[in-house]
Amino acid sequence: MNDIVARLKAAAGEKGFSEDPKEIAPHLEEWRSKYQGRSTLLLKPASTKDVAAILGICFETGTPIVPQGGNTGLVGGQIPFHGEVLLSLKWMNRIRGVDKDGMILTAEAGVVLAEAQAAATEAGLMFPLKLGSEGSCTIGGNIATNAGGNHVLRYGMMRSLVMGLEVVMADGRVLEMLRPLAKDNSGYDLKQIFIGSEGTLGVITAANLRLFPRPAETVVAFAAVPSPDAALKLLGHMQRRTGGLLSAFELIPRIAIELVSHHIPRARDPLAAPSPWYVLIEAAGSVAGLKDQVEAALGDAITQNLARDATLAANEAQARTLWHIRESISEAQKREGASIKHDISVPVASIPAFIEKATQAVAAKFPGARPVTFGHLGDGNLHFNFNAPPGQDEGFLAQWDEMQLTVHDIVKEFSGSISAEHGIGAMKRDLLPRYKSSEELDAMRLLKSSFDPKNILNPGKVIPPVRRL
Ligand code: FAD
Ligand code: ZN
Repeated sequence: MNDIVARLKAAAGEKGFSEDPKEIAPHLEEWRSKYQGRSTLLLKPASTKDVAAILGICFETGTPIVPQGGNTGLVGGQIPFHGEVLLSLKWMNRIRGVDKDGMILTAEAGVVLAEAQAAATEAGLMFPLKLGSEGSCTIGGNIATNAGGNHVLRYGMMRSLVMGLEVVMADGRVLEMLRPLAKDNSGYDLKQIFIGSEGTLGVITAANLRLFPRPAETVVAFAAVPSPDAALKLLGHMQRRTGGLLSAFELIPRIAIELVSHHIPRARDPLAAPSPWYVLIEAAGSVAGLKDQVEAALGDAITQNLARDATLAANEAQARTLWHIRESISEAQKREGASIKHDISVPVASIPAFIEKATQAVAAKFPGARPVTFGHLGDGNLHFNFNAPPGQDEGFLAQWDEMQLTVHDIVKEFSGSISAEHGIGAMKRDLLPRYKSSEELDAMRLLKSSFDPKNILNPGKVIPPVRRL
């Protein structure tokens, strides 16, 4: 083992490793403090060549290794639970180039999302991925988790923003696929296999990312709606009236406004009368009069009873204030106390029926649980969360598994997904056999054993073990 460690250290270079428990510690605990890992060796390579050398040694010696980016993942995928070597890509953080005319940014895996956004802005363009964790998460992590966020409605998940990829395979060979081609049907589109693979099939070292023109105008509105059904109809209405220029459509329940107003500084209810539900709407484009268009469409929506009231941000500061409410919901939930969370998706049209059925089922089985259902209605993705009844945090969390089953079984009835954007990691691995067919799981296992035949890449994550009778 000492020999392997010495070889790995040599491959990573003089400054490319740490055995200092103090330096390693922050990499072993994640954002929610839900998981605690252990590892005695942190590798910090600065080039693809170094990553390739490291994986070559791991492959030859059968040494397990866990890739990590910004450590903001919410399902424990980036945590080494069994003393594996930790491979941090954070030191591979160069922007390799921006092609303004081709609208492509080439970034290494460790570039922080906010820095990639800033580089795009500097070039007069935009990189549209927008997450609450953008100050810490990395491009490599965003690709490995196929991150979603607030602009999926218009620009898609990370998968649709990746044009080319550089990947080091489990045996240390490099798949050089940095070819930003909109059209390339020359065989299997291999990069897709690594997007969303959560570090289990290969290590992403760099990517070509799609950039977009910056919209000249961004309009943000906040509307009170009587029900999720009205919100769904309002979504279609606003898409039609803006010619598809919506970039966000977020559902917010009354309780979230109350929690945020109570716990978060500078946040308050933007509308005069309380309403059971709200939506935050963002439209963006470079057409003249977009704001007037949105205002007129909302006026008509009120006449048609799709909305009860609405306010439009008059300037950027007001727009930020409205987004601040939406982006503070998780934090407000945390300050309020314990909560059980589900990151689910169902077909967009099923959202109202799903909310009704699943909320009732939880109310019947877990009396007093307070539903805080919010999220990306336009993508069919809800953060279907429940806060504990006041003062009952501990007993509440003991119901975690049972509530997950109750909710996820209903998600399955609606042909939905038990992980819309956060992934499977360690947290949801053992739920998969209940919700995915054995054929799908077999195909996943086939991929895993082909790309990682010695099971050294992030072992134990995503793929549930085969249970033998
Ligand atoms: P890490 O957490 O370090 O790793 C995540 C997974 O990717 C692990 O399985 C790891 O092994 C693997 N990995 C990391 N880098 C590589 C690499 N270079 N090659 C191969 N595998 C790799 N997610 C959303 O989708 N939408 C949201 O709106 C959203 N909001 C968030 C808000 C907050 C406040 C927080 C804390 C998290 C949020 N997340 C969200 C989750 C998280 O930020 C994303 O999953 C993000 O993409 C993870 O990036 P990371 O660099 O931190 O990856
Ligand atoms: Zn989300």
